Amino acid sequence: MSKIILTGDRPTGKLHVGHYVGSLKRRVELQNSGEFDEIYIMIADAQALTDNADNPEKVRQNIIEVALDYLSCGLDPAKSTLFIQSQIPELTELSFYYMNLVTVSRLQRNPTVKSEIQMRGFQASIPVGFFTYPISQAADITAFKATTVPVGEDQLPMLEQCKEIVHKFNSVYGETLVDPAVLLPDNKACLRLPGIDGKAKMSKSLGNCIYLSDTPEDVKKKIMSMFTDPNHLRVQDPGQVEGNPVFIYLDAFCRDEHFERYCPDYSCLQEMKDHYSRGGLGDVKVKKFLNQVIQEELEPIRNRRKEFEKDIPEVYRILREGSKKAEAAAAKTLSEVKQAMKIDYFNDAALIAEQSKKYQ
Ligand code: ATP
Ligand code: MG
Repeated sequence: MSKIILTGDRPTGKLHVGHYVGSLKRRVELQNSGEFDEIYIMIADAQALTDNADNPEKVRQNIIEVALDYLSCGLDPAKSTLFIQSQIPELTELSFYYMNLVTVSRLQRNPTVKSEIQMRGFQASIPVGFFTYPISQAADITAFKATTVPVGEDQLPMLEQCKEIVHKFNSVYGETLVDPAVLLPDNKACLRLPGIDGKAKMSKSLGNCIYLSDTPEDVKKKIMSMFTDPNHLRVQDPGQVEGNPVFIYLDAFCRDEHFERYCPDYSCLQEMKDHYSRGGLGDVKVKKFLNQVIQEELEPIRNRRKEFEKDIPEVYRILREGSKKAEAAAAKTLSEVKQAMKIDYFNDAALIAEQSKKYQ
């Protein structure tokens, strides 16, 4: 069986370092490993519209931002198909059929959707499209027969729901859809990177992000203003490492060699953590180190972005070509789905013969 990746992002803002450690960096590694037959990377504009229906301009503006972030991180259109969700009508059609296989109460139990509804303050006015987006996500994944879906932890409930739809479809209509496997980051700190405000998740919609395209000055300002241990008031006080966003970011980004370069007082992160827990290590020193580590990671990304920004029409051309290729793949799956559901009437010679015999 072919090895196929499908993953993507909502064009609700520029991409941030949470996306980078949660999924983007891994995608580039997988792309360059050469182990995959197809890699589909989707800009999920239709999904973004489910909670931004009154602000299509935001979605429209952010398509190019996300595409530039992709290219600057090393996604290569020669190896990965970059495409825009709304340009593939087959995805909507698949979603419509999958809706019959999912109950309202099952959707209500999805913990990510639950917390997102709360976060967006929808209360009783949840858009139906938003409520059902896990179904549309199952359509995205299965349309490309994805075997591997590299995502952050918040996507686990979506993958579970997708697998249920696959099993249900295959048991009702016969073996047609491919059961996908989720690929979470190995590093625990990268599963769900917190925001600079200490909130549980760095998220475009919460405005607590360090963006991949932030200037070095902005990155520094954001890091120096980061939430840390609120009880660590004086340098000599013992500090809390557990749950402290600055240390979670270091867990996500720093390697031993960074200490050699930027903070030779310690040889590894554990030594720095021990000192912080004991007391005697100030937040400013830790933040300055974190700033150097993150700047080193972001600099090449920022520089590559500047190159791609010089030819924006070329970026749209890449997305157009990718969308064309993606549509062909989705159309093939849709035709198999319709055949399995026995709604491909005009190609069904046996059906036509049977019906005409009935009326002879
Ligand atoms: P929105 O607030 O509009 O939902 P978002 O910041 O949550 O935006 P998405 O486009 O929903 O971003 O997510 C894209 C991918 O990035 C998903 O695979 C998701 O799991 C991952 N991701 C998003 N935020 C984080 C984070 N803070 N840490 C790790 N992975 C993340
Ligand atoms: Mg999200």
